[in-house]
Amino acid sequence: MSDHRSDVQRMRTVFVEALSLAGKSGEVEALRIRFLGKKGELTAALKSLGKLPSEERPSAGAAWNALRVEMEEALDKAMTSTLLVEAEEAERRQSVDVTQPGCGRPYGAFHPVVQVMHDVVDIFVGLGFSVASGPEIEDDFHNFEALNIPPHHPARDMQDTFYLRQGGLLLRTHTSPVQVRSMLRYGAPLRVVCPGRVYRRDSDPTHSPMFHQLEGLLVEENVSIADIKGCLEVFVNRIFGRPLKARYRSSFFPFTEPSMEMDVECVACSGDDPNCRICKGTGWLEVMGLGMIHPNVLRSGRIDPERYNGFAWGMGLDRIAMLKYGLDDLRVLFQGDAAFLSSGGVR
Ligand SMILES: [Zn+2]
Repeated sequence: MSDHRSDVQRMRTVFVEALSLAGKSGEVEALRIRFLGKKGELTAALKSLGKLPSEERPSAGAAWNALRVEMEEALDKAMTSTLLVEAEEAERRQSVDVTQPGCGRPYGAFHPVVQVMHDVVDIFVGLGFSVASGPEIEDDFHNFEALNIPPHHPARDMQDTFYLRQGGLLLRTHTSPVQVRSMLRYGAPLRVVCPGRVYRRDSDPTHSPMFHQLEGLLVEENVSIADIKGCLEVFVNRIFGRPLKARYRSSFFPFTEPSMEMDVECVACSGDDPNCRICKGTGWLEVMGLGMIHPNVLRSGRIDPERYNGFAWGMGLDRIAMLKYGLDDLRVLFQGDAAFLSSGGVR
């Protein structure tokens, strides 16, 4: 007589120990296949019942079937609990820890030249000027001829630029063409400022082939040089944040008569430092050119110079940015140095 009781007990012991080590649902499933699958250990024992003597079959069958029920219940229970633990773990992995510090998104900033452009425009808008813009690709008429610079005029040498192959077009050398376009479009009286990019064939520490200008134009009746001085001194004091001494030197521009350069006292040393690197010890900074609009320019804009006159000025916005932020090399503005640019232009 075979001892099926001890066989059943042996398999039960092996099963219980194996199940106690199964911590994952996949391991529980593997045990089900090992014992209860088609080729499982318990399945094989049940199949072998037929080989037993008939008097032993009932008790052996009862014992193996009791173990089968026991195993099924134990496996179901283990499967339920391991699936529950795994679902909780998955949920924990997906959840957000609201106590973690956030990932900051850095703020962008205006480029120093653009910031200065906004500041300058704001001041002139406060003085009653409108803002106009025009094309960067210009024709000879608007860039030169209408501004009293005929072909072969020596002033063209000072403004050598980039010419396009077709149509006699060029990259504008100054924002003055927008003055002409504004006069033709709006007529007199007129108060307008024109900020924008301009181009010349220059490249060194204080010249860039692309730079920024802002020009202004005021056309009314009975305008005098006192008006231009009053207007521009208000501007200079506001942009540099304090009253500055100003002086005017006579100069030449084809589109104004008389023409002047405006200097202001050095924003760094006020003329007290003979070794000042900003003013090179002169105590003065050149900030813009200006003058009374030449009658020929008014005529180009179809404005009657017998009735109207006015003044115009032009300044380099990059230079204003250099003076405002104390920079000694213009090129730092165009090198894309993120550390410099994110400092708001302050070094
Ligand atoms: Zn100085």
